[in-house]
Amino acid sequence: MSTLAVNDIRAIVSCDMKNTVYEDVNLYCEDGLIKYIGPEKRDADTVIDGKGMLCYPGLVNAHHHLYQVFSRNLPKVQNMELFDWLKTLYEIWKNLNEDTIYLSSLTGMGELMKNGCTTVFDHHYVFPAGAGDLIGAQAAAADKLGVRMHFSRGSMDLSVKDGGLPPDSVVQTVDEIMKDSIDLIDKYHDTSFRSKRRIALAPCSPFSVSEELLVESAKLAREKGVRLHTHLCETKDEEDYMIAREGVRPLEYMEKVGWIGDDVWYAHGIHFNDAELARLAETGTGVCHCPISNMKLSSGIARIPEMLHMGIPVGLGVDGSASNDGSDLLEEIRVAFLLHRLNSSKDAPTGYDILRMATIGSARLLGRDKEIGSIETGKCADFFLIDSGRTELTGACYDPASVLGTVGVRGAVDYTVIDGEVTVEHGRICGADEEKLAADSDRELKRYLDGAV
Ligand SMILES: [Zn+2]
Repeated sequence: MSTLAVNDIRAIVSCDMKNTVYEDVNLYCEDGLIKYIGPEKRDADTVIDGKGMLCYPGLVNAHHHLYQVFSRNLPKVQNMELFDWLKTLYEIWKNLNEDTIYLSSLTGMGELMKNGCTTVFDHHYVFPAGAGDLIGAQAAAADKLGVRMHFSRGSMDLSVKDGGLPPDSVVQTVDEIMKDSIDLIDKYHDTSFRSKRRIALAPCSPFSVSEELLVESAKLAREKGVRLHTHLCETKDEEDYMIAREGVRPLEYMEKVGWIGDDVWYAHGIHFNDAELARLAETGTGVCHCPISNMKLSSGIARIPEMLHMGIPVGLGVDGSASNDGSDLLEEIRVAFLLHRLNSSKDAPTGYDILRMATIGSARLLGRDKEIGSIETGKCADFFLIDSGRTELTGACYDPASVLGTVGVRGAVDYTVIDGEVTVEHGRICGADEEKLAADSDRELKRYLDGAV
């Protein structure tokens, strides 16, 4: 049996149903589960001094493309909107291989974990011919760092010659995609409580895949009990494209192909109209909000205050690093708070509302809200700690539930605990040598970006 205790914690913001904030309290975990929260101190194999610490549920990132960590800050795409941005970057992304995926995943996951994230969903949809076992490379990276990982088998079957955006070498046939999807679900989809590996089916977007691929993906997902994810209503260009191609708006098209319900969540969801928001609420279909990416690509502002008011499941994600250009969910919380203050004034979500989106909200999108997303006995021991004695937080912690949104935190958290194991300690990743990772990554970047910068 492995045990962990955190003693004398200044405050635990639990994000439970009652929004409990515990003060001057101890936390005890056994075999990856939270067993006790209260006044008593218990012996444990590992003991963390929680004096002055604020403790939060591990953040859950509900939308990312880890491979894009290696196409950040590229000068030639900095002034582009989505469609041109994608067409330019596909010329780089077609050079992906197992090393690029392994090292970019380690880097992106590491940054997420240093900023309090404990569960990572990755939307990987670029599978160039002959690139190797890309999901296997990602699994190796997740195991090395100890993160709770939700993979996806993404896909594209429409290349430029079929009216899509990507080059031929990164698209596959529906048969190839379905066969690999079945193999990966059988290999990685672990439905047990505390599972650290699950998989979703995630065709890239309605404008880069065929109707057949969407229909077959939905059928397979329901047969296998896995969730469905894609980008939707990210830009006006997408809406115009879908109306021209299909004669209907994006959500109506997705509903026609079986993509609505509480096992589906969409990234972005910016351009939904009133009737579409009502349909999402009725069906329990979720949305992952990615404010930094939406601002960077000038895509628009998602109607988050209305979504929350209507009870639509909403989570938070950093989106791919090429449109962020980072993997910091704490920063995303702060930016989401400020963006909606600017846009919606008194109707904007509070700092605490945004924290709930990034924890229990995202956990619900992944179908894990009974296991993760809040600090409660019986749930997974996933949480992070921040020293409230930092200069930048001094005098700002009277409302620990809101402070991550209202004030924000710069610099890595002090501890990140996943499944009862310390994975970040004093702001450093425990599972990898950060200097070696940077050096190995630089070598791979030279090959991968050759001629593109
Ligand atoms: Zn995305």
